[in-house]
Amino acid sequence: MEAQRLREVSTSLIRRMFEVVERAKKEGRDVISLTIGEPDFPTPSEVVEKAIEAIKAGYTHYTSNLGIEELRTAIAERYGVSKENVMITAGGSEALMNASLAFIEEKSRVLIPSPSFLSYFTYAKICKARISEVTTHDTNFLPEIDRISEMMGRDVSVIFLNYPNNPTGAVIDGRRVRAIAEIAMDCGAIVISDEIYDQIYYDKKPTSLAGYENVVVVNGFSKSLAMTGWRIGYVVAEKDLIDSMLKVHQVNGVCAPAFAQKAVVEIMHSGLFDQIVSRMVAEFRKRRDYIYNELRKLYWTVKPEGAFYMFLEVGKNCMEFAEKLINYGVAVTPGIAFGSGNEKFVRISFANSMENLKKAVERIRLFHDSETT
Ligand code: PLP
Repeated sequence: MEAQRLREVSTSLIRRMFEVVERAKKEGRDVISLTIGEPDFPTPSEVVEKAIEAIKAGYTHYTSNLGIEELRTAIAERYGVSKENVMITAGGSEALMNASLAFIEEKSRVLIPSPSFLSYFTYAKICKARISEVTTHDTNFLPEIDRISEMMGRDVSVIFLNYPNNPTGAVIDGRRVRAIAEIAMDCGAIVISDEIYDQIYYDKKPTSLAGYENVVVVNGFSKSLAMTGWRIGYVVAEKDLIDSMLKVHQVNGVCAPAFAQKAVVEIMHSGLFDQIVSRMVAEFRKRRDYIYNELRKLYWTVKPEGAFYMFLEVGKNCMEFAEKLINYGVAVTPGIAFGSGNEKFVRISFANSMENLKKAVERIRLFHDSETT
């Protein structure tokens, strides 16, 4: 019998969309998937080479729970903190789960901006907390400081923030995000700042909240080095917060894959990291410009400033829209996967080739025209 804490957790939406796409493919239809949540580039050959060397050198066992020291030090230097403030995890997701189990009190409130990455809702449910969603649709997908202030209280244990944002591509400015961290601090709440897309930005540089005593920064290399299958994430936080998360991590992820940790630190030491990231971001920028300029003619949206997603207001039920669009050969993610108020939105991922994006735009235009005439 399933435990009660999972009662409100569902996998049905993702399954339903997956099944619809699979069925269309089985029927031999050509469907371009704009649902992809990871860079479409292969893991850079430089990273692969370093990993092979690491495997041959014996990086194939457990590492310390906290991660290999060289990697913790290299990450700490990027943030201007000490290695005591860094713990390596098995991907960003494990880091989010550790932080959730460490800081979300049962029956407390968890503040989540809507739209947001689906997992935050799941973590809050697993921890048996109450969810308070902060609407951002009328403020270009950024949480208003006053709105957060009004919703805050001593019963809030955690606020999730994620900029650059999945699913909107919004990037928050430093003043606003720091104000939120301070409001949380005044109420004794922890901010879990998911900065996993921090390297993928086009206009303004995202601000990190690392260094605040009530903030856990979650990050990793899944997106920045196109290595989602390698499972390397990390947290940056005050030592006492790291100690609490270590209690979960020691029985949860235990450690991230040793050879993958070694490969990443070698890339950081070689000076190749920034070069690899800029190569990928230059390509994403071209696609962002193209897809934004084309699709804004059809639907309301906000120009993505980071990540590789765009959130479109399609004006009708998103499930119906997504299912009908499959018949035109394009798969998108329905907005209801990202919290309340998103029933008329869909997420487009531009982690796909320019050739496919051009075909997809043509198909969306045909669908749009058929619906409006
Ligand atoms: N946070 C956000 C906002 C994401 O979009 C994702 C993956 O899509 C993750 C975290 C998880 O990253 P990882 O693959 O490192 O677990």
